[in-house]
Amino acid sequence: PRRVVTGIQPTGELHIGNYFGAIRRCVRLQEQGDDLMIFIADLHSLTTRQEPARLQARVLELAACVLAAGADPARCVLFVQSAVPRHAELCWLLTCLATHARLAHLPQYKEKAAAMKEVPLGLLLYPVLQAADVLLYGGTHVPVGADQVQHLQVAAALARTFAHRYGRAFPAPRALLADDGSDRLRSLRNPNKKMSKSDTDPKSRILLTDPDDIIELKIRKAVTDFTPQVTFEPETRPGVSNLVSIHCLAEDKLPEEVVQEAEGLSTAQYKRVVAAALQRELAPVRARARAAALAGLR
Ligand code: ATP
Ligand code: MG
Repeated sequence: PRRVVTGIQPTGELHIGNYFGAIRRCVRLQEQGDDLMIFIADLHSLTTRQEPARLQARVLELAACVLAAGADPARCVLFVQSAVPRHAELCWLLTCLATHARLAHLPQYKEKAAAMKEVPLGLLLYPVLQAADVLLYGGTHVPVGADQVQHLQVAAALARTFAHRYGRAFPAPRALLADDGSDRLRSLRNPNKKMSKSDTDPKSRILLTDPDDIIELKIRKAVTDFTPQVTFEPETRPGVSNLVSIHCLAEDKLPEEVVQEAEGLSTAQYKRVVAAALQRELAPVRARARAAALAGLR
C-alpha cells in the first residue's frame, strides 16, 4: 500500500482549508486502506515565535480536531513531531545535502522572509525538516495543499541526492493533490491569497470551531466582485469561485452542479446557501472536537 505522511502545524486554530485540504482528505485515504501517518508539526511551528504554554495547549487542541475529523487511531498513526528525535537528526543529515540557493528561492520562504526583519535560519531550513518528516517513514505520498508542491519537490530531490551519496535509502515522495479544489481555498478577505492560520485578519478564514452564526457572518462578509451571478471562474472571479469551491466540498458536489442550482440567485442570496451547507458539514465535527477536548484526550 501507499505510505501517506502528512503534518499540520499547531500555529493556530484549524480552518476549513486545513480541514478539507488536509485532514478530511487524509481521513478518506485512511478509509481507502492507505497506510496513514499524521503528525502535529510542533518543530515546524517554531520557525515563528511561539509562547510555550500556548503551543502545548494548541498541540492538544489540534489533536482533538484531527480525531474529531475522523482520524482513527486504530487505523492510522497520530503523533507529535518533537516526541520523535529522529526528525531533527535526519534533518541535519539532509541539511548537509541541501543547497542554500535552492531553499532561498522557494516562494513561501521569500514571502514569509520578506515580512520579517530578522529571518530565522529555521524558516530557510523548513523544507528540509519537512523532507526528513516524510523520508523517515518511507513516505510515498503526501496529501498537501498546492502551497506545498515545491517543498515536496525538494524532498524528492533530497531523497535522490542521498541515494547518490550514500546509497538508496528512501523512496522519492510525491505530492498528492486533490482534484476537487480542496487544495487551495482562498482567504475570504483577499481571494488572491490562500486561507491561512497565520493571516492576521480572523475574518479571512472560517475555523472548524466557529459556531453557526459566525460561519454565516464570515461568509456574508466574504469579498466577491460586482457581478451578481454565481459562476465558477477561479482565474477571473476568485472570490465567488472560492465560495463555490467551499460549497462543493461541504456537499461533495461538482462546480457545474452547484452553479446550476444557484441559477437565478444573486451572490448575496447564494452566500446563505453556502453558509447553510458549511454549517451542516461542520456541526458534527465541532461537537466531536469539543467532546474530545473536554475528555482531555486521555
Ligand atoms: P500557516 O499560515 O501557519 O502556515 P496554514 O493554514 O498554511 O498555516 P499548515 O499547518 O501550514 O496551515 O498546513 C496544514 C495543511 O493544510 C497542509 O497540508 C497545507 O497544504 C494545507 N492547507 C493550508 N492552507 C490551505 C488552503 N488554503 N487550502 C487547502 N489546504 C491548505
Ligand atoms: Mg502553511
